[in-house]
Amino acid sequence: MGKTSYVIALGSNRRHRRYGAPDKILAAACGALAEHGVELLDVAPTFRTAAVGPAGRSFANGAAHVASALDPVAMLHLLKRIETDFGRRRGRRWGPRVLDLDIILWSQGSWTSRGLTIPHPGFRMRRFVLDPLISIAADWRDPLSGQTIRQLRTRLASRKPVDHRRGAA
Ligand code: ATP
Ligand code: CA
Ligand code: CA
Repeated sequence: MGKTSYVIALGSNRRHRRYGAPDKILAAACGALAEHGVELLDVAPTFRTAAVGPAGRSFANGAAHVASALDPVAMLHLLKRIETDFGRRRGRRWGPRVLDLDIILWSQGSWTSRGLTIPHPGFRMRRFVLDPLISIAADWRDPLSGQTIRQLRTRLASRKPVDHRRGAA
């Protein structure tokens, strides 16, 4: 199979002893993707999202459009490996984490297998995901709703927030 492309969301709300603050961690994570042979096509600017509740610190959220010959399962595997390399421990969902890498969109549309759903199930309601996506994937269409990223973002802006989670990754 030739290369396909993915939109990956990146999030962090902890310092890393080597890379430092969350936005530096996101930049280093992009470097790690490239080191593993993933081609960086476009990288979104980083957004800061204030966190309340148990997650504690504020999040840095970003996104990257990447190309790779990996299929979705292999891509998720690589993302989890990079998370682990960055010192992430499996723990409370949405708790503090040094690095979170999610597959949001795939150029080939939808994918569902055990432990992996593309598009990412939560992304339509998450401003901290849609904001970075606007600069790299505004015209991509969500295969489920048929809406573009720009439309999803506009629709979300006119609604009351319904995503009650406290962190932002
Ligand atoms: P959320 O998925 O709601 O953003 P989270 O990122 O904190 O929460 P994790 O603990 O990082 O959740 O991941 C939980 C599981 O979600 C992973 O083990 C992975 O198998 C699964 N998963 C399903 N779809 C995706 C996807 N599109 N991208 C990344 N992980 C996914
Ligand atoms: Ca995740
Ligand atoms: Ca996540």
